[in-house]
Amino acid sequence: MKARYDVVVVGSGAGGGLIAGELAQRGRDVLLLEAGPHFTAADFTRFEARANHELWWPLRFATSPDAPPIALLGARCVGGTTVINTKVALRAHERDLAKWELPGFGRADLDPYYDRVEAYLGVRERNDWTKSVHTVLPGFEALGASLESVHAYADVNCMRCGSCLQGCPTNAGKSTQNTWIHEAWARGLMDLEANTPVDRVAVDGGEASGVVLADGRTVDAGAVVVAGGALNTPQILRRSGLDGAVGRNLGLHPVRLVYGLFDEPQDNHMAYPITTHCMDHQHDEDGGFVIEATTIQDPIAFATTLCDENGPLWGQPLVDAAKRYRNWVGVLAMVNDENNAAVSADDGGAEEFTFDFNERERRRLDDSLAFSRDVLLAAGATQVLWSGLASTHVQGSARMGDDPATSVVDRNAESHEVRRLFVGDGSLVPRTLSVNPSLTIMALALRLADHLHADPQGYLAG
Ligand SMILES: Cc1cc2nc3c(=O)[nH]c(=O)nc-3n(C[C@H](O)[C@H](O)[C@H](O)COP(=O)(O)OP(=O)(O)OC[C@H]3O[C@@H](n4cnc5c(N)ncnc54)[C@H](O)[C@@H]3O)c2cc1C
Ligand code: SF4
Repeated sequence: MKARYDVVVVGSGAGGGLIAGELAQRGRDVLLLEAGPHFTAADFTRFEARANHELWWPLRFATSPDAPPIALLGARCVGGTTVINTKVALRAHERDLAKWELPGFGRADLDPYYDRVEAYLGVRERNDWTKSVHTVLPGFEALGASLESVHAYADVNCMRCGSCLQGCPTNAGKSTQNTWIHEAWARGLMDLEANTPVDRVAVDGGEASGVVLADGRTVDAGAVVVAGGALNTPQILRRSGLDGAVGRNLGLHPVRLVYGLFDEPQDNHMAYPITTHCMDHQHDEDGGFVIEATTIQDPIAFATTLCDENGPLWGQPLVDAAKRYRNWVGVLAMVNDENNAAVSADDGGAEEFTFDFNERERRRLDDSLAFSRDVLLAAGATQVLWSGLASTHVQGSARMGDDPATSVVDRNAESHEVRRLFVGDGSLVPRTLSVNPSLTIMALALRLADHLHADPQGYLAG
């Protein structure tokens, strides 16, 4: 590492990896700092426990006084959560953007960035529906609902092995690692430091002057982009002295897998995880949930999260369910929430994640479970079980907005409080999207990279 860079980026996921790679390829002097290790496709195997250990952030939970905890899932490695995600690539609906409280900002502002991100990643339609999709399709049709193909950033080399959550071994599945980061780093255009957690942004006279690493070293920068993901970014900002809305407004976009047991083996684990979705209930007034089909958790996650109406499955019923792993087909119910969760940390640095769903959010969760169960039963499932709630799409904890009382950064993603300090990840998204968020996080990140490179305030000029 050098003593100074034009831009230091903290976190290498959907947002940070893109911003660092873009700026480096345009000739900016960039340092990308990542808390986790640098494993690549050559290292990735289907071994679930090993991937959880090497690539995933240790499991965390959001708690509420009157509801079971929600598991918070994400990655800690170069490429961030894009390394272990399922690559579904969807643009936000105009109605979701209308909830962002950014007057005048809509799809027309984001579409040029979506176009560029999709072209760069080679986003394509997945019309190679898996066998188990055809198993559940009659269930959707019986309820008057429909399935359509998803779009995804996985190219034609996808061998449908189903190990997306352990890192794609063929590089067919795109991440910011095997695209923006490696393209810049392998050509010597960018410095990348893995296993290097950042403690805080160094702030001097109301301006960011660089970062302080967890081991106490410092690096100077013309501008700092914090992109540690929506659970970590607010903690970094707090340690840097920022206050206000930091950590509030966390959106969980809670998900639950609902499984149906079929007589014939379905082998849902040996398929590209998500090829279709049902958008009939996407908007709040239509129910407020999206169903993705079909998928199944890997064996450890499957067996440790199964529930029925009596709570977690245990003893012989769990053994019986696990023995028939090949016969279960899952649908993923993703529910619109209203950003009623929060990230905080005490003086000793102990992090805490809390949520408090309102009546509308609880109703959507119940309705999405009931709909999924009805679909599976109508498709011929002989038993239906489901997982506990998880969040794979955290967003909003350092939201973009015009009012410093209710937002953390302005429309250019620059802090209201500290100049030269930007947020470049899912924390920016002002209100939870009804679809998977990575494409939107990348579009916002590309927008920020353009802004930083244009350098209207001369931050990088010196
Ligand atoms: C199982 C799973 C499946 C998913 N599938 C999809 C999908 O199909 N489609 C989709 O659109 N989205 C999907 N997502 C969500 C998507 O991947 C995330 O929304 C997106 O990657 C978030 O981007 P980010 O930049 O905010 O954070 P991340 O991608 O999580 O990156 C943050 C990075 O910052 C690093 N970091 C944190 N703190 C520090 C620190 N102090 N110092 C240095 N580095 C730090 C972390 O280690 C991490 O690598 C999925 C998520 C999961 C968990
Ligand atoms: S299913 Fe396709 S995208 Fe997923 S890990 Fe396998 S080859 Fe990669």
